[in-house]
Amino acid sequence: MSKYEIKIDKFKCVGSTLCVMDAPEVFALNGEMQSHVIDANAADDEAILHAAQSCPMNAIILIDRETGQKAWPAR
Ligand code: SF4
Repeated sequence: MSKYEIKIDKFKCVGSTLCVMDAPEVFALNGEMQSHVIDANAADDEAILHAAQSCPMNAIILIDRETGQKAWPAR
């Protein structure tokens, strides 16, 4: 299981598709051109973090399941 809980901030996502290109097993765009999580466990943690870091809007929020702390974005 991924160490991250993944959330998408719908108010920030602009549908750039970068996260989908980075981790297509994890992210997909819905009919409103918004990213959503299709399978949080389909890629390793490093790939999920990389995809989150690729988001130009910082719309992907990663929560460390173990600590409950936000792992990304940094602020
Ligand atoms: S990279 Fe960010 S802005 Fe682009 S689709 Fe993914 S969540 Fe939305």
